[in-house]
Amino acid sequence: MNTLIIDVSDILTTVGTKKEFKFENEFKPLYAGKKLNFTGPLNFNFFIENVGLELLVKGDVQGKLRFTCNRCLIEFKAKVKVNLDEVFTLEKNEFDTKETFKVVDNKIDLRGAVEQAFLLELPIRPICKENCKGLCFKCGQNLNLSKCNCLDEKIDVRLLKLKKLKEELEKNRD
Ligand SMILES: [Zn+2]
Ligand SMILES: [Zn+2]
Repeated sequence: MNTLIIDVSDILTTVGTKKEFKFENEFKPLYAGKKLNFTGPLNFNFFIENVGLELLVKGDVQGKLRFTCNRCLIEFKAKVKVNLDEVFTLEKNEFDTKETFKVVDNKIDLRGAVEQAFLLELPIRPICKENCKGLCFKCGQNLNLSKCNCLDEKIDVRLLKLKKLKEELEKNRD
């Protein structure tokens, strides 16, 4: 299987027939504010069922996407799994007024449904890990990798104050 346009002519004529699919397939990048690339082919696992005037597509798709962390700006990969739960209406269905996917020339094109499912599932602010420390707002250092001097300065100032206080206390004692 090397396309997401699937010939369904063998289940179109009989209500109740069902066909299972399991395959890998490449997928184009997603556009969610910026371009997001998949790191490899996606895993598809679903069935198509003829339920009368429409075909039901149910199952899941998973793939790995390359994100940029919202806090520390590094690139990281994360697995995203989405559910497929779509209806493809038959061409001849004249009662259909909804904006739905359609069976065209005995084929269904899954690309739109897959893209929609992923876009709904994407994190709005992806982070590389739950406890990502982000970048120092002062010097830009990635705080996951090492501390920066800005933090130390703050500590130093506090220590200095304590030292001064101690000195003054000792002076008063004299
Ligand atoms: Zn991060
Ligand atoms: Zn810093």
